[in-house]
Amino acid sequence: MTDKKDYPFANIIINISHEQVDRAFGYRIPDRLRGMIDVGSCVIVPFGRGDHLRKGYVVELTDKSDYDVNKLKYINDIATKDLPAEDVFIKLAAWMRRNYGSTMYAALKTVLPAHKKQSGLKHRFISLRMDIREAREYYYECKTKHRKAQERLLEAILEDPEVRLPYELITGKMGISSAVIRALKDKCVIKVEEEDYLRNPVRDMKVTGDNLCLSNEQQAIVSRVISDYDQNIRRTYLIHGITGSGKTEVYIRMIAEIIKRGKQAIVLIPEIALTYQTLMRFYRHFGDRVSVMNSTLSPGEKYDQFERARQGLIDVMIGPRSALFTPFPGLGLIVMDEEHEGSYKSEQMPRYHARETAVALAGMLPDKASVVLGSATPSLDAYYRALTGEYVLLRLTRRLTGGTLPEVVRVDLREELRSGNRSIFSRVLREGIEERLTKGEQVMLFINRRGLAGFVSCRSCGHVFKCPHCDVSLSEHRGGKLVCHYCGYNEPVRKICPKCGSKYVSSFRAGTQQIENEVHKFWPGARTLRMDADTTRSKDSYEKILSSFANEEADILIGTQMIVKGHDFPSVTLVGVLAADMSLYAADYRAAERTFQLLTQAAGRAGRGQLPGLVVIQSYQPDNYAIVSASGHDYESFYNEEIEYRRLMGYPPVGHMMAIGISSGDEEKGIAFANRLRAHLDRNRKDKTGSVLIGPTPAAISKINDIFRFVIYVKSSNYAILTSIKDLADEFVKEMQAAGQYRGYSVQFDFDPMNTF
Ligand code: ADP
Ligand code: ZN
Ligand code: ZN
Repeated sequence: MTDKKDYPFANIIINISHEQVDRAFGYRIPDRLRGMIDVGSCVIVPFGRGDHLRKGYVVELTDKSDYDVNKLKYINDIATKDLPAEDVFIKLAAWMRRNYGSTMYAALKTVLPAHKKQSGLKHRFISLRMDIREAREYYYECKTKHRKAQERLLEAILEDPEVRLPYELITGKMGISSAVIRALKDKCVIKVEEEDYLRNPVRDMKVTGDNLCLSNEQQAIVSRVISDYDQNIRRTYLIHGITGSGKTEVYIRMIAEIIKRGKQAIVLIPEIALTYQTLMRFYRHFGDRVSVMNSTLSPGEKYDQFERARQGLIDVMIGPRSALFTPFPGLGLIVMDEEHEGSYKSEQMPRYHARETAVALAGMLPDKASVVLGSATPSLDAYYRALTGEYVLLRLTRRLTGGTLPEVVRVDLREELRSGNRSIFSRVLREGIEERLTKGEQVMLFINRRGLAGFVSCRSCGHVFKCPHCDVSLSEHRGGKLVCHYCGYNEPVRKICPKCGSKYVSSFRAGTQQIENEVHKFWPGARTLRMDADTTRSKDSYEKILSSFANEEADILIGTQMIVKGHDFPSVTLVGVLAADMSLYAADYRAAERTFQLLTQAAGRAGRGQLPGLVVIQSYQPDNYAIVSASGHDYESFYNEEIEYRRLMGYPPVGHMMAIGISSGDEEKGIAFANRLRAHLDRNRKDKTGSVLIGPTPAAISKINDIFRFVIYVKSSNYAILTSIKDLADEFVKEMQAAGQYRGYSVQFDFDPMNTF
């Protein structure tokens, strides 16, 4: 990762007190230090009127100075001794900048939390007021009277009657309304206490230690990781284990061991998958030594959390992507649950992936850290690395929760059409729903809107229009064209299927609203809940819908991919996937992988409780390997097929890919600029055979807020070639800026993109 160019000037930030990150000062690099200083280097510089020596970080090297050269001061030296914890994050920012293509400022802003003053917050707790016996009686009364929300809250309290539960946890993660809390309070069942903002939301949680006896498989994994750790071996481990196989328990035990060794741990869990139950398990084990970060925290609260970590007041930080930047004094372990989740990749510059960044961070720490990844459906990236030996592959094969995997039925929608059924429900699914409604069991109907960008297929034979060059689905655009989002290939929309001659060629456009209407048409009395981007716009609405469903206030939950994660609904015995193809033909190379993951997760929703579950997967291509292997709960065979496709096409993880996104308010100028950039890259890239350039082409979302978007894709088997081409692009942009020709454009990079630009 070197770009120690022989440049004479450096821009340096002096004080990392966070607000000042944006302010850089120009310095000259003395000859004796030339070529030794890199972006991210920590240097000693004279600063201010008294020229006091201060520490600073290099954010940019240049060959021209924006300031009067004669007035520039010289860098005094390179700092070497006593690098504080923060320096690791500066180094990490430099790595992110290099690896993902962003400015140093953007990278620093990502790794260093904004410093914000905390206002006097109040904190509320809920605890039992009645004595336990009375409360139990009241709980049973709620149960018989079907007061589901009160029942759930009391259940949580009675599980650990001495514990005070944070109010936010109840209204947030449990989705229990303040009206329910008030009702219990008015009946003197519970009390709500308020106190000054406690730095730790869970201070009074008592610690109950380990009471489960680990299974042999679990024990073997904990022992392996910890004995490696004790022998100073630091690796990245991938735990492949289906839901309920005991991964979380394994994380908890490992963390406990790491803490015994005087170290701390970070647990990354996608926010959407972090359930109340999981949180409580961590609280029970680590009590007030654990903290949780989530997106509802204000910048001040976030800073507060980080401060507690820095001061050694906690040992465990749980949270989404950004929890990775918790400045622990002695980080020993990073756990990343649901490692395959798309939310681990940032959608803003730097577009970093938390998995790669975690591994990089672990390697930069003075003592280094171990990294443990876990998933029921590992990402192709992680599994590939595990099979090549870069990661250590560990398996959990048994389900500890009991219960059987649900029966999965694949329905061929082409057959349905042939037999005259044009509705969006197959006959099997309709009968299934009917039966559940009579028995009072619950149903989840799932549609993946991701692919809604408009792939076009034949509803009679299942033929899908694909790009002959990229092997991804074409998308329908206005003006009657089918377009490839990678290379720009296009062809006119056809009315007749080229394969079977049928005239049922169309883009699939069913949304959640349409499904709900259809449900009401067939079953006017059915109570439905809908969860999609529209119904979850307001804060907490996501949790509210889920808890309303958990309270059995509805028979059918209809939703997008949001509904397949996390929460357990014991009364759900039927899951219907309406058009599994939709995600399969999203116009990018990860479509099959995402489909497999979603179907596996969706299938895992049925039959969580005592009752056996049924999953109905409807599609036009029931024989597609992603659908077949998901129905058979067979990860290996999916992986084997998929990796061959990636290898053949040079897609990640076998190859690498970089998207260069160009945005401009002026369509003509935007494409002209993109073309010039492409020509510049063609002319100047060194290893001409080592990379393939594709485009420019209009982006998948070709216009946002009147800004036109174009994209150039670069493919290479060698990541370093991609970063060198990124540097070329950066240089070109700079040249254009210097020549006054770069106005109103923006250029962004996305390495191994998870989504199309
Ligand atoms: P995962 O994270 O893989 O979904 P969990 O760790 O949540 O799995 O375990 C699933 C369930 O099995 C939990 O209810 C947990 O309490 C229980 N469990 C985990 N390990 C054991 C064990 N060794 N013995 C008994 N029950 C266990
Ligand atoms: Zn056809
Ligand atoms: Zn193409």
